[in-house]
Amino acid sequence: MSNFCIIGSGISGSTIANLLNKKHSVILFDKARGPGGRASFKRIKGKIGFDHGTQYFSPKTKEFKRFTKNLIKKKILKVWGGKHIFLNSKKKEDKKHLKIIGRNGNNDICKYLLKKINCNYQSELKKIYYKDKMWHLLFENGKFRSFKNLILTCPYPQLKKLSRRFIKNPFLKKSIKMDANITTMIAIKRNKKSNSSYLYEDPILGWAGNENSKKRFKSKYDLWTLQSTFDWANKRINKNKNNKKKNSKIMIDKFFNLSNIKKTKIHYSLNHGWKYSSNSKSFKIKSYWDSKKRLGVCADWFIGPRLESGWLSAQDLFKKISK
Ligand SMILES: Cc1cc2nc3c(=O)[nH]c(=O)nc-3n(C[C@H](O)[C@H](O)[C@H](O)COP(=O)(O)OP(=O)(O)OC[C@H]3O[C@@H](n4cnc5c(N)ncnc54)[C@H](O)[C@@H]3O)c2cc1C
Repeated sequence: MSNFCIIGSGISGSTIANLLNKKHSVILFDKARGPGGRASFKRIKGKIGFDHGTQYFSPKTKEFKRFTKNLIKKKILKVWGGKHIFLNSKKKEDKKHLKIIGRNGNNDICKYLLKKINCNYQSELKKIYYKDKMWHLLFENGKFRSFKNLILTCPYPQLKKLSRRFIKNPFLKKSIKMDANITTMIAIKRNKKSNSSYLYEDPILGWAGNENSKKRFKSKYDLWTLQSTFDWANKRINKNKNNKKKNSKIMIDKFFNLSNIKKTKIHYSLNHGWKYSSNSKSFKIKSYWDSKKRLGVCADWFIGPRLESGWLSAQDLFKKISK
């Protein structure tokens, strides 16, 4: 038995934690309040809430197809049906392109993988030290913990800041940019004829998803998750905290204009800024493992900007650790 500390409860952290836990003792820390990372679910009341990061996933690789099929059988995941519309675009929905979502929220997949893991939330890792073949970690609450093995799964810029003293591999020398995303969640008057989602060709709004169409809850309101384009968010993300109302209003106005939905009262509105949403360029390696120092990194950005990429990166790291 050896002790593994994992930082991050997104798909990468929860997958590697689940795989390692079969043979090792594992403990996980995340700065967020709950599991999921960029596939989080914002719960409002009971089962009502918004997928405010990952909207759905469409498995591409054989391995991930097999994994998700099994979770559909286990009733952790399901297929999101309904009418998905491409606006201002010649694109049409490919019916073979499955839209898979969590039964209760898109963090269900992480919750399932973390069922047997000792998870500690609201625990932000601030600094890392390496001494006497051990990793010594300082958390925001002032607590120090030491582990033989350390796995990091943070977005690239955060990873770089935490670990550049210890990782000499060229992948950490790159200046890879991660695009931002501004997400606005709204509740408006119920319209039973609403479509399931809209994909826009617009400089401001990229996507709108109707949470009611996922059939997880019943509500007297229609809940919509609106996501901006990268370009629009990149210019605004640093000041979004102070401009939440203004940015949300711009997105909401666009949503009504472009989707041809009658403008109604906004009963609820919430704005979430993702500073590091995704990267467009991938790396030559799928994960990183230093077998001497016992330091590992897995994350979506090694492979691509999708949830499946995080899962694949964690599988790759597990193979390296198990060698
Ligand atoms: C707005 C948006 C929409 C998206 N839509 C889709 C989609 O429709 N389909 C799709 O396939 N993908 C989508 N993605 C991408 C997908 O969400 C990611 O690829 C995937 O969730 C990344 O998982 P990860 O585990 O690698 O990283 P993350 O989910 O970012 O996990 C990293 C975790 O580490 C934690 N952490 C970071 N630093 C520290 C620290 N110092 N101390 C403690 N904890 C720390 C974070 O809190 C986080 O929980 C979307 C992403 C965003 C932001």
